[in-house]
Amino acid sequence: MTQSPPVHIVGGGLAGSEAAWQIAKAGVPVILHEMRPVRATEAHQTDGLAELVCSNSFRSDDRETNAVGLLHEEMRRAGSLIMASGDAHQVPAGGALAVDRDNFSAAVTAALEAHPLVTIRREEVDGLPPEDWGATILATGPLTAPGLAAAIGGLTGETELAFFDAIAPIVHFDSIDMGIAWKQSRYDKAGPGGTGADYINCPMNREEYEAFIDALLAGEKTSFKNWEKTPYFDGCLPIEVMAERGRETLRFGPMKPVGLTDPRHPDVKPHAIVQLRQDNAFGTLWNMVGFQTKLKHGEQARVFRMIPGLGQAEFARLGGLHRNTYLNSPKLLDATLRLKVRPQLRFAGQITGCEGYVESAAVGLLAGRFAAAEALGRAPAPPPVTTALGALLGHITGGHLAVEGEEAGTPRSFQPMNVNFGLFPPIEAPTTKDGKRLRGNEKTVEKKRAMSRRALADLDLWLSGTAAQAAE
Ligand SMILES: Cc1cc2nc3c(=O)[nH]c(=O)nc-3n(C[C@H](O)[C@H](O)[C@H](O)COP(=O)(O)OP(=O)(O)OC[C@H]3O[C@@H](n4cnc5c(N)ncnc54)[C@H](O)[C@@H]3O)c2cc1C
Repeated sequence: MTQSPPVHIVGGGLAGSEAAWQIAKAGVPVILHEMRPVRATEAHQTDGLAELVCSNSFRSDDRETNAVGLLHEEMRRAGSLIMASGDAHQVPAGGALAVDRDNFSAAVTAALEAHPLVTIRREEVDGLPPEDWGATILATGPLTAPGLAAAIGGLTGETELAFFDAIAPIVHFDSIDMGIAWKQSRYDKAGPGGTGADYINCPMNREEYEAFIDALLAGEKTSFKNWEKTPYFDGCLPIEVMAERGRETLRFGPMKPVGLTDPRHPDVKPHAIVQLRQDNAFGTLWNMVGFQTKLKHGEQARVFRMIPGLGQAEFARLGGLHRNTYLNSPKLLDATLRLKVRPQLRFAGQITGCEGYVESAAVGLLAGRFAAAEALGRAPAPPPVTTALGALLGHITGGHLAVEGEEAGTPRSFQPMNVNFGLFPPIEAPTTKDGKRLRGNEKTVEKKRAMSRRALADLDLWLSGTAAQAAE
């Protein structure tokens, strides 16, 4: 049997690594071009493939009532390398799937290096890939190197958009005062690999909270430059921006005090709670949950040491700012992620306008499967829109409906998004056994369960269909 020509992939991050795996698994050779360590990005610190640049969490692993948990499950069923490596190197994190970042990245790198159909080249692709490469996937992420970013902009006529994401600080465990803080997961949820006591909780009374908010508001921030004056992505707001939106906002966001009780003072209800999540397998580093910030580094240390339990905190890494690069995909890409003006090029990962590690890997998984199908002479089959994979792809390639004042039917003001049930086709709320309609929270939860059941059933059909096609 003659082997098909290789698919080239530029970028060995979450998306590029997953795409390479899917293509090689289908029996098609891959050449993966990764610029690290030849050239660094502003955020990566290693030369490992699939490096996690900030948090070590893949977020909720609840496949029944959480859309990213459902996406985890769909990817597992589709043979995802990212999920297999994440599962193999998880660290306790309540209901979330968090991983030891170094072991995770090492596992992805080793699996790809060991695959006979994968060639890894450590080099920067400093411009558009040459035409004679044929089918190529661009998975260069939010920190695409400038030469390639400019070339993509030149080709598409669309300039990339930059906006803030913010990194949360990481604290050394042995500098946390466990005489004040205590370990507990919210509502004692154990989740995968957890114990129900996976987070470190730092309680605040009303006075401490008010003083903390004052300090946050007064703290010196990194100054805005012109390119930074773009809207924040709501899922990743810096805490001082949340505080600016209202003094109570943090108490209803990352500092909410619900589902947690200090065992030493069970009768005292904290006014607010700061949570830290384990960041490495050793348990020596802890990540301040939801504390993305653009405060200046000196200010961060001063202000965060006001938090009870963190008075002597030593920071392994302070929070920071970073940019994001993404396409106006609904306009530029076709239904299988190919660039309309040059279909040889396919895009994957965060550059397509998804948001998050898992979503980036999921779009890599899809791009890989589509490219492999084409290389084998088959028509790529997109997943059903009822699945999390299909919902995410729909967001990227379908975009949202035009709002008033925009050109009718034209996707505009496209914003990156995490997977969420709002992207799925609606479903009738199930009724009780005796046919009564559900209400309130019960109705919401049961709808999510029904969407998840529908998604997994449709995913299994899609996977068996593509497997049958491959066997023909
Ligand atoms: C600073 C920062 C923090 C983030 N924090 C989180 C978080 O906590 N949780 C979360 O879920 N998501 C986070 N994200 C968003 C996103 O999930 C990650 O960026 C994710 O890694 C995106 O996956 P990707 O594969 O698209 O890109 P990446 O994982 O960034 O992979 C792209 C790869 O392409 C390489 N590359 C770039 N240009 C070239 C070129 N010209 N030639 C060759 N190689 C090239 C890069 O070196 C990199 O390895 C963060 C993003 C940033 C920038």
